[in-house]
Amino acid sequence: MQASADPRRLAIASCTLAILLAWAGPVHADGRDSRWKEQPVPGLPAKGEGQAFRTGVVATANPYAAEAGAQILESGGNAVDAAVAIAYALNVVEPQSAGIGGGGFMMVHLAKSGRTFTIDTRERAPAGATPGMFSGLSFTQASTSGISVGVPGMVRGTADAVQRWGRLPLARVLKPAIRLADDGFAATPRFVASPACASATSRAKVYPETAEYFCPGGLPIAVGALVTNKPLAQTLRTIAREGPDAFYSGEIAKGIIEGQKRMSAGGKPGTMTLADLQAYEATKRDPVVSSYRGYLIKGMGPPSSGALTVGQMLKMIERFPIGDASAGFGFGSPATLNVMAEVMRTAFADRALWMGDADFSYVPVKGLLDPAYTAMRSEPIAPTARLAVNPVAGDPRPYDMSAWMPATQLAGVTSFAGPGGSTTHFVAADKWGNLVSYTNTIESGYGAGMFAGYYPDGCAEISCFKSFGFLLNNELTDFNFTPSLNPFTGEAAANDVAPGKRPRSSMSPSMIFDRKGRPLVAYGSPGGSTIINSVFNVTLNLLDHGMTLQQAIDAPRLSVTAAGGSVSIDTGNPLSPTPFPDASLEALRVLGHTVNAPADIGSVQIVVIDPKTGKQYGGADLRREGTVIGLPRPRHGHRGHDRDDEDADDDDGDDD
Ligand code: GLU
Repeated sequence: MQASADPRRLAIASCTLAILLAWAGPVHADGRDSRWKEQPVPGLPAKGEGQAFRTGVVATANPYAAEAGAQILESGGNAVDAAVAIAYALNVVEPQSAGIGGGGFMMVHLAKSGRTFTIDTRERAPAGATPGMFSGLSFTQASTSGISVGVPGMVRGTADAVQRWGRLPLARVLKPAIRLADDGFAATPRFVASPACASATSRAKVYPETAEYFCPGGLPIAVGALVTNKPLAQTLRTIAREGPDAFYSGEIAKGIIEGQKRMSAGGKPGTMTLADLQAYEATKRDPVVSSYRGYLIKGMGPPSSGALTVGQMLKMIERFPIGDASAGFGFGSPATLNVMAEVMRTAFADRALWMGDADFSYVPVKGLLDPAYTAMRSEPIAPTARLAVNPVAGDPRPYDMSAWMPATQLAGVTSFAGPGGSTTHFVAADKWGNLVSYTNTIESGYGAGMFAGYYPDGCAEISCFKSFGFLLNNELTDFNFTPSLNPFTGEAAANDVAPGKRPRSSMSPSMIFDRKGRPLVAYGSPGGSTIINSVFNVTLNLLDHGMTLQQAIDAPRLSVTAAGGSVSIDTGNPLSPTPFPDASLEALRVLGHTVNAPADIGSVQIVVIDPKTGKQYGGADLRREGTVIGLPRPRHGHRGHDRDDEDADDDDGDDD
């Protein structure tokens, strides 16, 4: 008979082991202790290659947004100010992806104190939301109706961040976005290539005033045509003048509330009230920390599943010599791709069961990342075989020190990834060494499809529409679409809808630190649940394959987002594709994987900082319109306007 292990003793033993492992770096045969060796900075370009900057760098998925961030740095702002300026500018130039009608996660590292934290601006369900609120609706009906609109968090969270850690007033930080919305910008290929006009099912076509903005007269906007958004400029001016409260009350709040009362054919209105908007608070959280090959990886914990899933995958794959071609691995080899797919399948099984909003549900954060637990989860994975039976979720509770909290409720068993195509990731570093990694979203492309706004009584003409210029999110579709029970406990699933709760996210703003705690890399991606895998791919590219930051972005990616899921691949940088070898993909098929036709996965932006030299490097993804701007830049290349030079003092924003 097998003695059953006491879960408390197991937990204490594995915790002790983790502490010992953390301290016991490898000791070489010659007695050298690698704990004290300088660790290589991942992603550094080769000597003489790649542009190094010293006083700041931004990388975004859009050139206008990068310019906004750079201008704010040049005006004396720090990385927090620049990141917030980028977020607002993106609302103007990439409105289909993110903006003030939605939310996201901002990860901040402050150089002076060495502290790293995250600001959770995730949308919340209104008080009237219920677990069964999507009942009877198709996903399309729900995701194009007010019922899917969560209480937006970006304005509150970014205002808090600028006030506490920025150097410039919010009004100054909003200037570039206001100017873009007012004066206009030349439509970029991505702005017009969005499926707004071509696709019959585009969210941009559900509501006539949205269709008119993106496809005036039913026609696509020409690349280079001037696009303005005067209502958004007005909204941003109000926020700049009156502060974030102006968004959560008064006319703008009325626009949000009236907007989310609308619905597509057969859909359902939302239940959001002024009280929901006024109750919104952004939350400062510690990052979730895992380790990989001697580096620390910090990322976004619950309500995101990002850092937990990335961390689990890294721990599971660490026992394989991923970077070593002579051992049968190396970039793009069948063995590497197979173990990547297998750790994804295994971690996504855990994600579906255990991850949700930890403010509302028990999420075994420690257990999921416990080395003994991840070793046990990794054990069935082999380089030359596909797991014959789809992995199911494990039970991390015995490895979780907080597992004996009363009234535990386990996270969801159903997961609905929903369509991708939205969201945006950007990074910013400043001359003080502060660093921001920020993923922002309105969930689907064009969110729920409607602008905040309403038709005044008696007029249904588009010209009468009182628009506030920003699209409303459909984030609540990231909850379990159908309420479910946890099979172990019979309790309600933790990713079920509940009032005030945040839907589970995949967003994974991340940073890599050396063992001295110095930040080396900031990165992240959009892409729904593939976000997790893009971050994972790039981490391996940097830490196992020794790629430069741009190579790590350009390389093809592999993604599986469910235990029984097929393998999605992309071909890498679209301008110079470097696909995985056909033979490797064929080897995956022979092992039993279904390999999908290639499609773009993610849009990764990276900043690398070399702590020895202070040099900063940026990398951006050409799967979208990735742009890096580093400072200082040649004066003749600068547009010369929008500079208030408010950089008199030397305060770096690290005031708390
Ligand atoms: N709503 C998704 C999440 O929070 C992001 C959507 C996307 O990237 O397309 O995970």
